[in-house]
Amino acid sequence: MNLTVIDHPLTRHYLTVLRDKDTQPQNFRAAAKGLTYTLVFEATKRLPIEACEIETPMERTIGYTVEDVVAVPVLRAGLGMLDAVLDTIPNVKVGFAGVARDEATALPQEYYSKLPDLSEAFVLICEPMLATGGSLSWAVDKVKSSGAHTITALCVVTAPDGVKRMYEDHPDVHIVAAAHDRELNDAKYIVPGLGDMGDRLFGTL
Ligand code: URA
Repeated sequence: MNLTVIDHPLTRHYLTVLRDKDTQPQNFRAAAKGLTYTLVFEATKRLPIEACEIETPMERTIGYTVEDVVAVPVLRAGLGMLDAVLDTIPNVKVGFAGVARDEATALPQEYYSKLPDLSEAFVLICEPMLATGGSLSWAVDKVKSSGAHTITALCVVTAPDGVKRMYEDHPDVHIVAAAHDRELNDAKYIVPGLGDMGDRLFGTL
């Protein structure tokens, strides 16, 4: 299985804040950031590091650096995860993948993308709600067409349909999530879920 669900008290706390329908956008954004910190540490466990020599005040020793990480938030809800990634990952670059869900068909429609060369990069796609998997599968196609071959997706909540779709389309992609929920409703929203992530982040309900 390519899915890791984080079992950490802080993850559960922030997820509860996000799920609560009474949480207002400012607190929602803070909780999305707090939760993403907990995902980033798991997702970057296998990040390549380079050894280097440094001098402490006492003597020379070996240190390690992290290079070549590119975060790709899927617009617009993925922006709610970006600050935590920027805070924690040294030298991280940011590409963008803009996709909207066609509400009638639930299919992904591209409206913007801007990606650097990803052939040497460890790519972290920020896609909070893995519902049908259409947007994430599309985003992975995009980053692969820019050369990416080491790809992890950070999700807040996943649903069985989305995980299955990703396993079929992109079994090489590791998914790190805060929860794996029961199902999708008829409108393809995750239940119990947290509603529309973009609307709740930006107050556009
Ligand atoms: N996108 C969301 O924001 N929420 C869902 O439940 C599914 C897709």
